[in-house]
Amino acid sequence: MEILRSSSLYETEPVGVQDQPLFLNAVVQLSTEYSPQDLLAVLQSIEKRMGRQRTWRWGPRCIDLDLLLYDNKLIDQPDLIVPHPELADRAFVLVPLVEIAPSVVHPQRGKSMAELLACTGDTKRVWRYRPRGKSEHD
Ligand code: ADP
Ligand code: MG
Repeated sequence: MEILRSSSLYETEPVGVQDQPLFLNAVVQLSTEYSPQDLLAVLQSIEKRMGRQRTWRWGPRCIDLDLLLYDNKLIDQPDLIVPHPELADRAFVLVPLVEIAPSVVHPQRGKSMAELLACTGDTKRVWRYRPRGKSEHD
């Protein structure tokens, strides 16, 4: 498995429960021999090794690895839906996707990532993350 491109990190407002810290989001493009199901298993084993513990839905988590797109495949299985069902409704996914793959077309919607971002109704803010180092005023 090889990482071909990776986006910047983005700091984003939480979905659902607001009273929790900001999230960091990023997307990567991979080349892989793994099937979608096997790739999901790999992502879940990485989450486990990183010590992910379930809180509540949309709650704080140390890591969440989702499979967003896999070529032009449409998958609808109990444990794996591709494209990820919330992709087109989430600015925090579309903004980093547009950074690395603006012209990739969503196989169900027939629109590119750039077009999906332009017409999403998600108004949550997404900022490019700048680590808070020492500021010049310190
Ligand atoms: P979420 O990502 O929605 O916050 P979880 O990471 O806890 O929630 O995932 C819940 C379930 O979503 C997993 O058990 C997994 O089987 C399922 N799932 C379905 N489609 C996908 C996908 N494209 N990528 C990642 N997980 C998926
Ligand atoms: Mg997940």
